[in-house]
Amino acid sequence: MTESDPSETLFERIIAREIPADIVHETATTMAFRDISPQADTHVLVVPKTRYRNVGELAAADPALLADVIATAHRVAELDGLVDSGYRVVFNTGADAGQTVFHVHAHVLGGEQLGFFGRYRDEADDD
Ligand code: AMP
Repeated sequence: MTESDPSETLFERIIAREIPADIVHETATTMAFRDISPQADTHVLVVPKTRYRNVGELAAADPALLADVIATAHRVAELDGLVDSGYRVVFNTGADAGQTVFHVHAHVLGGEQLGFFGRYRDEADDD
């Protein structure tokens, strides 16, 4: 799927339970499920049930729904026992950030010491 593709994304199909996912929490407005390719001991995606393409569009259109997404992210952290040890919430937005699914989603990461993030480093750059 390309960023310009207006068709349904994978996440609408997960929300509709048309394809399976490991759902860890659900509210009237949000759903949280484990990432299929986890980057930490806990790696959960939180999505609003209404589709916006990215967090900026969501914030502009429905700030209360963005607050619901953050509250669900915190609830996921509580359920996975991360509140005391800490966790990270990330919204990849656009190509440079590596966004691949254009239904806004928060990544909730934790359960172990997380690495730094930021500029892409190719090993060749270290020479
Ligand atoms: P992003 O790159 O920020 O758009 O994140 C998309 C995330 O969706 C990636 O971390 C993928 O591993 C994850 N993903 C893709 N397909 C599935 C799936 N069927 N179930 C759960 N997570 C998925």
